[in-house]
Amino acid sequence: MLNSAPSAKALTIGAVITSFGLVSAPLYAQAAAAQPQLQRSPVAPRIELVKAIVNEAYDKFKNEKGGKNADYIPVLAKVPSNLFGIAVATTDNHAYSVGDAAYSFSIQSMSKVFSLALAMEELGADTVFQKIGSEATGRPFNSVNAVVDMPTHTGNPMVNAGAIATVSLIPANTPDEKWSKILDFYAKAAGEKLTLLNDVYQSEAATNQGNQALAALLLKYNRIYADPSQSVDVYTKQCSVGVNAKQLAIMGATLANNGINPATGQRVIKAENVPHILSAMMTAGLYDSSGAWSWNVGLPAKSGVGGGIIAVVPGKGAIAVFAPPLDEQGNSLKAQKVIGYVAQKLDYDLFAPASVGLPASIGRGK
Ligand code: GLN
Repeated sequence: MLNSAPSAKALTIGAVITSFGLVSAPLYAQAAAAQPQLQRSPVAPRIELVKAIVNEAYDKFKNEKGGKNADYIPVLAKVPSNLFGIAVATTDNHAYSVGDAAYSFSIQSMSKVFSLALAMEELGADTVFQKIGSEATGRPFNSVNAVVDMPTHTGNPMVNAGAIATVSLIPANTPDEKWSKILDFYAKAAGEKLTLLNDVYQSEAATNQGNQALAALLLKYNRIYADPSQSVDVYTKQCSVGVNAKQLAIMGATLANNGINPATGQRVIKAENVPHILSAMMTAGLYDSSGAWSWNVGLPAKSGVGGGIIAVVPGKGAIAVFAPPLDEQGNSLKAQKVIGYVAQKLDYDLFAPASVGLPASIGRGK
């Protein structure tokens, strides 16, 4: 396969490439002592090739205009629209980034992936599937109609109603306890301490009446599993967690690496839950353009209205892109283009036989 390398070669490459020094807090020290290379994926990509393609994508799309920052959360409209960062992290703990990849922005709906993972850790995939569901809604992400019309009402864990219900499911004695549990879980996935962006939280909390309405409606259908307004508040906090593209790439690579953070060597997500999480991302990670995304790019991904998109290449790694202007569906325009370009160049489309080494002519003929 073009972008894979036998272990011996990868180890040589590994010796000359600098990996992220992500392990800072004592919490992660013990995990870092584990040897991530022991869990090295046999399909981990060649980082030199990934770097070259990421650089190409950065140059190709850096001057692209189009799209518009989210402004329904007022503070997001003030984020400079020209920020642009790309980061990749591989399952064998190589990392690379270009542009504004250290700029901290709000995780927004990319958080839904990791709260889903946490709910599954605690309750198992079957319970979560039964209580939330996993069908695309075919409606905008904040649709009241979808809640009324869909047989499950919650829809899936990637739309707001399903995500708020997922937060409500996570066991905790108090909302504060739930919030720290969530933040700690995200930090384990990122391999670094993460914090709340208070200005984003305040701005969204003051304007989240739509999400409060969704939660109240879910109560009518018995599809919310804790106090609705407290659940919305914890959900709003989780969406306001600050992350940068590098941290997001590690979070994605944790999913690509079967639930083990490749930077710390720590297991964060049970291996058995990973395929279900990726399936939810594939179904609705880009809301009502998830079908087109699947059709064109073929990778499980999740967007956030803060301008980030994270895409997972199972067994290989993850790519995270930050560029604030969004399309009509609320997905970063530039991030979609970058990920589409990289995925095509590196044969990452999971539905193309080229992704497992068959000649491209047998696949989609891209
Ligand atoms: N916090 C945002 C909201 O609930 C998340 C939406 C998004 O990122 N698509 O509206």
